[in-house]
Amino acid sequence: VLDADEPLDETELAIEGALRPASLAEFVGQQKVRGQLQLLLDAARIQQRPADHILLSGPPGLGKTTLAMIVAHESGRALRLSSGPAIQHAGDLAALLSSLTPGEVLFIDEVHRMARSAEEMLYLAMEDFRIDIMVGKGAGATSIPLDLSPFTLVGATTRSGLLPNPLRDRFGFTAHLEYYEPEELERVIERSAAMLGVDLPAASRAEIARRSRGTPRIANRLLRRVRDFIVVRGGGGDTTTVDAALDLYDVDGIGLDRLDRAVLDALVRRFRGGPVGLSTLAVAVGEEAETIESVVEPYLVRIGFVGRTPRGRIAMPPAFAHLGVSHLDSALR
Ligand code: ADP
Repeated sequence: VLDADEPLDETELAIEGALRPASLAEFVGQQKVRGQLQLLLDAARIQQRPADHILLSGPPGLGKTTLAMIVAHESGRALRLSSGPAIQHAGDLAALLSSLTPGEVLFIDEVHRMARSAEEMLYLAMEDFRIDIMVGKGAGATSIPLDLSPFTLVGATTRSGLLPNPLRDRFGFTAHLEYYEPEELERVIERSAAMLGVDLPAASRAEIARRSRGTPRIANRLLRRVRDFIVVRGGGGDTTTVDAALDLYDVDGIGLDRLDRAVLDALVRRFRGGPVGLSTLAVAVGEEAETIESVVEPYLVRIGFVGRTPRGRIAMPPAFAHLGVSHLDSALR
C-alpha cells in the first residue's frame, strides 16, 4: 500500500507537490550533491548559459524530481516534465525537443526506458543542440538537420546500470542519491507536519522517520496516514497513535511493508535462504522483477537483510531474525 513508486491519486499528487522544497536550501540532506549542484548552477548563472546536463540516479522517492524542479526554479528557467516510457519513438522526442524554449530545463524521468531510436537522437541533441529528422523511407529517405534551443537535460533513473555508456557520458554531472538518515527524515517530517498543520511531538516524528525506509516520499506518506488517524479517531499525536496508524497500514516495526515482507518470507521460508534468481523470486511474490529489483531490493540490501551473489539473492542472518525463523528451522523444512 505504501510503495514509494505506487501511482498516487490526484489529491495525493497535489499534496506531494505542495510538500516539495522549492530551493536547494530547503532540500534536506544529500549535502554533497546539494553543494555540487549549487556550484553547477552558480557557474551557469555567472556565464549566462544553461547549466550542464544532469543525471540523477537512486531508488524512487529520494528527491530526483524535486531536484529537477529546484534546478529550474533556482536558475529562473521554465521546466518541462516527461518520462522515458512516454518517449517510444524518435518522433516523440523530436517534437518535445523542438518545442523547448531557450534555456528550458527538460526533466526525463526513467530515462533508461526511452526507445533506442530516441536515445540516439538525444546524443546529438545533448551535445550540439541539434537533431536530424528522417524524412521518407528506403532509398529516398533524407535527413533534415534542425537546430534546437539550448536546454538543460535532467535525467532521472532508478537503474543507472541500464543506461548505455554513450548516453551516460553526455551528462556533465552525475549524482547518486543515497537513502536518508533517520535524523534527516525527522527534518523532512517536521517541515511537512508544519505545512499540513499536524502537531506531532518529537518522539512521534522520530518513530515515523525510523519506519520510512530511508525515503522522504514514504516519510511524507506515513505522516499523512498518521494525520488521517488523528483526524478520524481523535487523540494526540503520541507514539501510541503512530503505532496504531502504521499497524493499520501494515508497516512493521522497522518500516517494511507487505511486499517487503513477502519477498523476505519467500526468500527465507520457501527458498530456504537462497540463492534464488530474481525472476523466480518475483514470480513467487506475484510482482514484476523490475519492481523487486529497483524498489524493494535496494533497501533490503542496504539494511543487510538480503545479499546479491552471482548465483542469486540470499537472505542474511538479520532477515531470518526479523521473521523469527532460525537458520536451522529453515534448512530442515
Ligand atoms: P523521486 O523523483 O526521486 O521519485 P521526488 O522528488 O518525487 O522523488 O520526491 C518524493 C517526495 O519526497 C516529494 O514530495 C518531496 O517533497 C519529498 N522529498 C524528497 N526529497 C526531499 C528532501 N531532500 N527534502 C524534503 N523533501 C523531500
